Amino acid sequence: SASALKRNIVAAARGQRMLNGRTLAPTVNHGSSAGLKVLAVLYKGGEAAKQEPRLLGSVENQLGIREWLEAQGHEYIVTDSKEGPDSVFQKELKDTDILITTPFHPGYLTRELIKTAPRLKLCVTAGVGSDHIDLDAAVEREIQVLEVTGSNVVSVAEHVMMSILLLVHNFVPAHEMIERGEWQVSDIARNAFDLEGKVIGTLGAGRIGRLVLERLKPFNPKELLYYDYAPLSAENAEKLGARRVEDLKEFVSQCDIITINAPLHEGTRGLVNADLLSHFKPGAWLVNTARGAICVAEDVAAALKTGQLNGYAGDVWNVQPAPRDHPWRHMKNHLGGGNGMVPHYSGTTLDAQARYAAGTKEILERYFEGKAQEPANVIVGLGKYETKSYGQR
Ligand code: NAD
Repeated sequence: SASALKRNIVAAARGQRMLNGRTLAPTVNHGSSAGLKVLAVLYKGGEAAKQEPRLLGSVENQLGIREWLEAQGHEYIVTDSKEGPDSVFQKELKDTDILITTPFHPGYLTRELIKTAPRLKLCVTAGVGSDHIDLDAAVEREIQVLEVTGSNVVSVAEHVMMSILLLVHNFVPAHEMIERGEWQVSDIARNAFDLEGKVIGTLGAGRIGRLVLERLKPFNPKELLYYDYAPLSAENAEKLGARRVEDLKEFVSQCDIITINAPLHEGTRGLVNADLLSHFKPGAWLVNTARGAICVAEDVAAALKTGQLNGYAGDVWNVQPAPRDHPWRHMKNHLGGGNGMVPHYSGTTLDAQARYAAGTKEILERYFEGKAQEPANVIVGLGKYETKSYGQR
């Protein structure tokens, strides 16, 4: 129709494309479709990756895209060496066109490093969460940042459920007791509870937060709460039966269990600090699979020690890999339990890897062919944020 044609012309003038009336993210290709240098920073898979080809996110298995990239005349460098000026990451970045990283072994792309990479046009996060990239600097330099949105959200939501259950049921010390050859039920049962009847809240009610609420509902909690500047749709709020609490301190003071499911950005960095923890219900459990730096590491360890927290679990750390002496490795509550920390792997199950490897390839394919990207995958488009999840701006 004439109005659709007019909309298309207006959109084209803005560098956007329309498909059935839907605005697609700007086409990302800058003109060159062959001979690009693609650099991927992935984690080392070692023996496991040789034995298990489905460990696609490892240096050894290279997201399964080497042959495909090389057949099109692109160069593909894959490394796990990412720290310091002598790392392969920092050296190769200088003439890289496309950077692939994962949140599991993040190549930290700082503003300073971006200055050393004049050819860089596209960053692809194989997974979800691009806080390891200085997004403001990417906006300024017109470097686009895409994620494989949704690729591992079920994996994480399931991990959150497991972590909540293992803290509340005091599982880890119980298993450790068994390994030590001991058997003293009362030492475990004195701090074991049920989920049923508890107040459970999610800080962040996006894709993962919603999946967690959905999975919590059948456990018959006393109430489900959420804190997010973006309210749930009326339909979701009703389906999930979750009540929004708009004040953060009020939110944390009402919850027996809190799960964090918001991205790391300037509005969430260090949000869970000694001050906020002092507003938690004494003896609350906290699960954080979002990003380690949302919590102040020392403050969480101190709260566990004093009993302000009864337990803390998650897989994300403020520095990755976490140093051997990181307080979260050994922190305990006063009964010697309450620690459910693991390395960052909730979003890299083999099922998730299949999805984020395929999603990474699709993003690259669209880029090479000059096609518009799936809007939900675009975190930073050409010179602007395309997501509302990384803070209110
Ligand atoms: P999403 O974009 O669908 O949802 C994020 C939600 O957080 C949004 O609703 C947003 O409004 C909300 N939010 C942002 N800032 C907030 C704030 N200050 N207070 C309250 N809410 C806020 O993202 P998602 O798919 O649900 O993923 C969330 C995060 O989980 C990712 O950004 C990533 O950091 C983390 N994650 C971790 C793993 C893992 O392996 N551990 C895997 C995937 C994602």
